[in-house]
Amino acid sequence: MTYSFASYRQALGANWFDDDPLLAQVLKKYLPKLDLVSVREFGGKAATTYRQLMHEAGRTENHPRLINFDGYHNRIDEVRICAQSDQVFEEIYGQNLAVGTGSYEGDIERYAKLYLLGQNSEGGVLCSVACSDGLGRLLRAFSSEERLGKILAQMEGRMPAPGPKSYCHGAQFVTEIQGGSDVGKNVVSAKPAGDSWRLSGPKWFCSNIIADYFVMTARPEGAPEGIRGVALFVVPAYLPPFEKGGMGGFYPQRNGYTIDRLKQKFGSQSLPTAEVTFQDAVAYPVGPLERGAANLLEHVLSTSRFHVLLHSAAFLRTAEREATAYAKFREAFGKPIADYPLVSKTLATLRQQREAALAGVFRLYSLWQREGVKDPVAKVDARILLMLAKTFSSIQARQGLTEAIILLGANGIEEEFSDLSRCLRDCLINEIWEGPHNLLVTNALGDLARFVGAEKILGFLERNLGAIPAWGKELQAVVVASAKEDRTVDFWPLGEKIYQGFTACARSQI
Ligand SMILES: Cc1cc2nc3c(=O)[nH]c(=O)nc-3n(C[C@H](O)[C@H](O)[C@H](O)COP(=O)(O)OP(=O)(O)OC[C@H]3O[C@@H](n4cnc5c(N)ncnc54)[C@H](O)[C@@H]3O)c2cc1C
Repeated sequence: MTYSFASYRQALGANWFDDDPLLAQVLKKYLPKLDLVSVREFGGKAATTYRQLMHEAGRTENHPRLINFDGYHNRIDEVRICAQSDQVFEEIYGQNLAVGTGSYEGDIERYAKLYLLGQNSEGGVLCSVACSDGLGRLLRAFSSEERLGKILAQMEGRMPAPGPKSYCHGAQFVTEIQGGSDVGKNVVSAKPAGDSWRLSGPKWFCSNIIADYFVMTARPEGAPEGIRGVALFVVPAYLPPFEKGGMGGFYPQRNGYTIDRLKQKFGSQSLPTAEVTFQDAVAYPVGPLERGAANLLEHVLSTSRFHVLLHSAAFLRTAEREATAYAKFREAFGKPIADYPLVSKTLATLRQQREAALAGVFRLYSLWQREGVKDPVAKVDARILLMLAKTFSSIQARQGLTEAIILLGANGIEEEFSDLSRCLRDCLINEIWEGPHNLLVTNALGDLARFVGAEKILGFLERNLGAIPAWGKELQAVVVASAKEDRTVDFWPLGEKIYQGFTACARSQI
């Protein structure tokens, strides 16, 4: 017997914009003037060229490598990524999809494209995109400072990139060996030196170490202990003078740091994540030193958290597409498995969750970057919802990908059959970085109590969920009680309901 998977593979489609009519409807709602031609074109490349390149980049033999020394015993600490990742980087940064220009309209279009690209997993590129986006937002807030304004111009492509590539990208290094959530324990030190600073000490999880600029937390000498003593800096990977030499060569003078080792990771394996030791690295402060943690949260972490929800919607779309195509194709006991009620229920859940997640992403973006920039109430709402959405969208995406893998049976865990297993590994990383679940749920409850206030909780629900749900009073009671004791365990399921109610409301508005 010759068994063919051709019809299943064909059903996966060749344009991920065309197979997703909801995306066009969402874009129409949030940006009615948007010309969809460019997004449609991108959807075609996402399903073909980028898909192939990111799949190749995921193969073990193509993972990043660290070369500590050259053949002449010079310490070079060079990280090499594969040609496939290189090509995706060139294309994505060539289209300015990572940093944009700071306009709401441009952002809607680029996030639509990143949602399409993200259906191929992290791919060694999307962490860089999220970090560059966060760095761009941070720099825009402080671009009146000349050096920072120049870096922003490089990031936006208005000035030549400082490094060997045609584009300029960012990374963010906060986590230290003694803990990532508790940033107040940071010990990497900062001391003033002329018109800049010098940072020294080890950082433990440094993703996208190939970036041109790093956003870093460090503790200025003499600063108070705890979170108030953590300041924010931008650290260039290379120091001037930059020399783009003959034969296209580039001879960088690296800033003061060594790349000690690359992590061997369970997920996002195409992405180089390093352990790094800084020694008198030149650094530029960003904003007032004592507002380091606040600025990190407002501009950098909020942006990465937003990218996590974008990726969660993308991962759910991958799960939905693969599972639906396979269930219609695969027969068992004389009929397509899609015809069994247990299977069709799984497919319906995937579809419903994906649609709500996609609508929720753009609703939250509008709340955060349109309403939130004018209205302090919307700003607080967006911050709380970003934390809950980061948590519960990534859990839902992990569960959705797992369901899809199980639906494909043994073929679901085969790396060459589909990208589901790679997406699942990357999805788990989204659950950890930029704030693990417990921390975000705890902080969301704290912010509800402090900035919304128990007496206004029902208004928060009505504004964001479209109506006051039956459990509104229960939430109010938990928020009140949280002033006296830890009520995070009781808050968890309510936080999940807030996320579900918010996204369901967003979906109903499309
Ligand atoms: C692939 C990958 C790439 C990464 N890249 C970067 C990077 O580029 N830059 C960077 O700075 N970091 C990076 N990180 C680190 C990441 O941001 C941290 O892992 C994260 O902040 C959590 O810190 P931690 O791992 O030290 O866990 P911890 O902070 O030690 O937490 C351990 C556990 O304790 C729980 N916990 C902590 N506080 C509380 C609390 N108050 N209540 C209840 N439970 C709590 C957490 O939820 C978690 O489950 C990366 C991580 C991964 C996995």
